Amino acid sequence: MVGAGAIGSPLAAGLVSALPEAEIIVVDGDLVERSNLPRQPWFSLKDLGRPKARVLAEALGSKRIYPRVERVDEAFAWPRVDLVMDGTDNWAARLTIQKFARHTGIPWLFSGAVRWEGQVAWMAPEGPCLACLFGSELTEGLRCFEAGVVGMVTLAVAGQALALAQKWLIDPKSAELHRLYLLEGRQGRIWSVGLPQGRCPHIYG
Ligand SMILES: [Zn+2]
Repeated sequence: MVGAGAIGSPLAAGLVSALPEAEIIVVDGDLVERSNLPRQPWFSLKDLGRPKARVLAEALGSKRIYPRVERVDEAFAWPRVDLVMDGTDNWAARLTIQKFARHTGIPWLFSGAVRWEGQVAWMAPEGPCLACLFGSELTEGLRCFEAGVVGMVTLAVAGQALALAQKWLIDPKSAELHRLYLLEGRQGRIWSVGLPQGRCPHIYG
C-alpha cells in the first residue's frame, strides 16, 4: 500500500480484515497534519506530527501491517510483493509505482479522488498506462488538501479498490484488468468503461 492517507488508510483497514493471511506493507513518508483529521478517523489530535504509516499500523493493531516511513521515489527499495495498491495523491509516486510494476510484471491498482469524483483502475503490466489514461503530460495539479475532497468519495474509492483486490487475490483470472471505474458522489453514480487491450505505445526505461 503506497500512501496512508484518506484512501490508503481505509484500504489497509479493509485488507487486514478481509485477507487474514496477507502481509501488508504501508509506505508513507508524510506526517499527520491537522487537515488530515476530518477524513481519516484512524488519526487523532495526539498523532499530529507523527508518521502516518506508523500511526495507521498502531491504530489497526495488526502484526501483519509493516509501516515504512519513506517516500516512493526512484531511490525506494521495493520489497517482494504480489500487488501494489495506490493510495497516494501525487503523480510522481504513481509513475514510480508504474515503472516498478512494468519491470516486475505485477499489476497495480490506481486510485484517485478529488472533490466529488473518484477513479479506480487496474493497471496491467502489458495494458494501458497512466499516460494512455490521463495524457502524457501528467502534472501535479491540485492535491486533495488544496482542491478539497469529500470523505465519502475517498471511502467509496477505497471500497471499490478493495473489492477489486479481493477478487484478484482469490482468482487472478477473474479480474478485469482493463477497466476504469468512475465514481461521482453528488449523484451517487458508479460506472465503468473498458480500456483498450493492446500494448500501450509509451515506453518506460
Ligand atoms: Zn501508455
